[in-house]
Amino acid sequence: MNYTAPRGTKDVLPPDSQVWQKVEAKFRELCERFSYGEIRTPTFEQTELFARGVGDATDVVRKEMYNFEDKGGRAMTLRPEGTAGVVRAYLEHGLASLPSPQKLFYLISAFRYEKMQKGRYREFAQLGCECFGSAEPSADAEIISLLWLFFSELGMNDISLQLNSIGCPDCRPAYLDQLRDYLRPHLGDLCEDCQKRFEINPMRILDCKQEACQAITQDAPAPLDTLCPSCQDHWEELLRLLDFYAIPYTVNKRIVRGLDYYTRTVFEFISDNVGSQGTICGGGRYDGLVEELGGQATPAVGFALGVERLLLELEAQDLLPQPDQEAQIFIASFPAYQDQASAFAYRLRSAGIHAEADILGRSFKAQLKHANRMGATYLMVFGEEEAARMNATIKRMADGEEFEMSFDELVQFLLQQL
Ligand code: ATP
Ligand code: MG
Repeated sequence: MNYTAPRGTKDVLPPDSQVWQKVEAKFRELCERFSYGEIRTPTFEQTELFARGVGDATDVVRKEMYNFEDKGGRAMTLRPEGTAGVVRAYLEHGLASLPSPQKLFYLISAFRYEKMQKGRYREFAQLGCECFGSAEPSADAEIISLLWLFFSELGMNDISLQLNSIGCPDCRPAYLDQLRDYLRPHLGDLCEDCQKRFEINPMRILDCKQEACQAITQDAPAPLDTLCPSCQDHWEELLRLLDFYAIPYTVNKRIVRGLDYYTRTVFEFISDNVGSQGTICGGGRYDGLVEELGGQATPAVGFALGVERLLLELEAQDLLPQPDQEAQIFIASFPAYQDQASAFAYRLRSAGIHAEADILGRSFKAQLKHANRMGATYLMVFGEEEAARMNATIKRMADGEEFEMSFDELVQFLLQQL
């Protein structure tokens, strides 16, 4: 029988995995610069957590979750996103009673049963941040600035930040009435999903990807035009801060999150290169979520970024970080000296040097061929001379120049080149 990876999943092999590591390392390093601490939560949680935390009315919960019953008969779900688990852990471990703000970041696999497309998988990786305890626009601005720096430092200059405000429980009911009034005459022309959304989650109709629905909502009232005075202040203050930071944005009145616990700021980072899956990152404020999941009312803001889409975008812009180069030194040996050569490779590795020696019992000639092909920076030949004098002649592969030195000097020489 031949096995293949399940549909919608993928293997990441070297050297691509090094590219992943570099992107992840950049994210971790940046999070540290902003005082975010890493949180690791389980890959599965109770189904109920996602039903409440993501929302019964969302596509994710209605159609995309990997649900299963464990042997104890409990309803469990592979996490479709990171926020619900983070909020659960935040409450479970009493982080709510520690000084605010609490700033957490994560790197996770998420699972959604979706139709496979470019940039759309059933298991995919997300990087995310959640900041708890501040209702201030400066918290929104800070988290957006973290993302902006992340993209800038990866060299991505033509990614667009699209920003909107969707109001709060004070201004939303009146808005939803207005929206339903506007949509009611067109109800029959909306797609099946949007017809369901009309009652339970009408704001989501604004970001339906069906052309027919987009045409209908073209002139629909937007939440941004109906903000209450305090949401309006929050919005204006956020824009003022982003201007102050010189972070460019586009106001996009159609960006929404459908549920009550998402409030005020919503944003996406969008690129044109990932095809229809152009949203690399989505985020915003969710001032009602902690309370929805059983805590005290706690303002919060966060985002999740899709790593596969980010890598597609980096590839399209020819910006993928280079994988690390091959071994610094390859030690080729004559058969009688193979053990000494591999012991010397071990000594170099103990000193922190990336060294390689033969482990296939190859002939000297075959080892030289291999050293050439793998692209080691230096070649050292281990034979009688070397064993007797503890002296090495190494050849720089790029230009053939040779250097002679003692073993101790060689260690120092290679360390200096790191
Ligand atoms: P979309 O509208 O593309 O389905 P979404 O609104 O479902 O996105 P979020 O729940 O906001 O996405 O997730 C945050 C990010 O995670 C997305 O912007 C995207 O980069 C990534 N993402 C979401 N679903 C997938 C998937 N199935 N495969 C790969 N990446 C994904
Ligand atoms: Mg989706």
